[in-house]
Amino acid sequence: MINIAIVGSGPSGCYIADMLSKKVADAQVDIYDRLPTPFGLVRAGVAPDHQGTKNIVRQFERTLTRDNVRFVGNVNIGTDLSYDELKAEYDVVALTIGALKDRTLGIPGEELAGVYGSGEFVAWYNGHPDQADLNPDLSGNAVAIIGNGNVALDISRILAKTAAEMNSSDITADAQTAIDASPVQDIYLIGRRGPVEASFTNAELSEFGELERCVALVDPAQLPAGVPENLDPKAAKAIEKNLETLRGYAANNTDSKPVRLHVMFCASPLEILGDNGKVCGLKLEKNKMIDGRPQATGDTFQLDVQTVIPAIGYRSEAIEGMPFDDQRGIVRNEGGAVEAGVYTAGWCKRGPQGVIPANRADAMAVAKQIIADLEANTPAGDSQGFAATGELLRQRGIRIVSFADWQQINQAETERAENGKLREKFNRIDDMLALL
Ligand code: NAP
Repeated sequence: MINIAIVGSGPSGCYIADMLSKKVADAQVDIYDRLPTPFGLVRAGVAPDHQGTKNIVRQFERTLTRDNVRFVGNVNIGTDLSYDELKAEYDVVALTIGALKDRTLGIPGEELAGVYGSGEFVAWYNGHPDQADLNPDLSGNAVAIIGNGNVALDISRILAKTAAEMNSSDITADAQTAIDASPVQDIYLIGRRGPVEASFTNAELSEFGELERCVALVDPAQLPAGVPENLDPKAAKAIEKNLETLRGYAANNTDSKPVRLHVMFCASPLEILGDNGKVCGLKLEKNKMIDGRPQATGDTFQLDVQTVIPAIGYRSEAIEGMPFDDQRGIVRNEGGAVEAGVYTAGWCKRGPQGVIPANRADAMAVAKQIIADLEANTPAGDSQGFAATGELLRQRGIRIVSFADWQQINQAETERAENGKLREKFNRIDDMLALL
């Protein structure tokens, strides 16, 4: 038997498991996850009101219930089982641990109460156990969200929507209650570059045209007359679509709805201002764009905000013993190869870029490399895999969560959902384990 371990059951891990369990003769694929719940960012990263994106779990469920695939949940590689112990018992290890840690701005004031990284904030409203106690302070009337990517738009939209608009979502009840109770009226979405350089996509941007209580606004002076020349036609088309949407927002009436999304460009945060340890404002500097790069103008201004959410990307977290590129915050690798028998794919390989289909392509390429390497150098067939690691984990008192256990948790979450929601997630591991 060829024993293959995958660490992390998000999209990249599931895609690799799918291909290897089908294509490698006599393979046993074990997918470890530190949570009792599978699917990584599909469960805890994708916005709770974007259920269409989450439909991919149907496909992943088929993979995880295949005879030669085993979900090994609630096992933290690095603490419950070391990286070296895992490597010793498997012929192949694939690291697909994603990128969970927030990048920081590196400006004064980031330590103040009221500053939340986008990863923390998204994990909180999505019921990730790491952030069950985040309890973000949304008691002010203005929030600044830094960054011009789709994560910044997701957070803006979740804050802007009414509870009724979150029907058919799987936001946690705690998060929905906190957002409903928040008096927030002004949401500032702040990009350091211009609308041409923004990385958000039009499907996400245009959702703000249809919200019940929130109007999107932009200063028309920040919008260029047209798309710059010499861009490739596909990029030019995407930018033109965004500009068209933004022109519509520029014509909106400020007072038409009680909540305003202010889409702002060409401004870099300089300092988060505090009062008694809490955020009370944000100081920014205007930029001008030179050849697609932001150049500081020295012209500063302030926003009165009480919450700041930098949505500027993520880093992976190193597992002890694993080769890690600390500067880039990724697993050290060359084209997905980490060291003998060890591979990596997805955001922990390339950095936090690309939607799920892009990660599918990346995972498929790494899976093909694994297959080629196995063909070139066939293992002796004497590895122990889960027979050994499962025994070690049992000796250490770790409660391994199987896929059947997860299905029980899944059913309980679905059954306890109220108010038109699809599920009410358990956001504490103890509550999940107590069910089993
Ligand atoms: P992103 O698209 O890379 O956006 C990050 C933003 O942060 C950029 O606007 C970047 O500006 C800005 N930024 C970085 N450092 C900064 C700094 N020091 N000061 C000010 N701004 C800074 O990343 P993301 O939004 O986290 O999304 C990650 C990936 O997930 C993307 O591929 C995204 O498309 C995908 N995603 C997709 C969806 C969806 O399809 N609905 C939803 C969520 C996420 P610069 O461009 O100037 O560097």
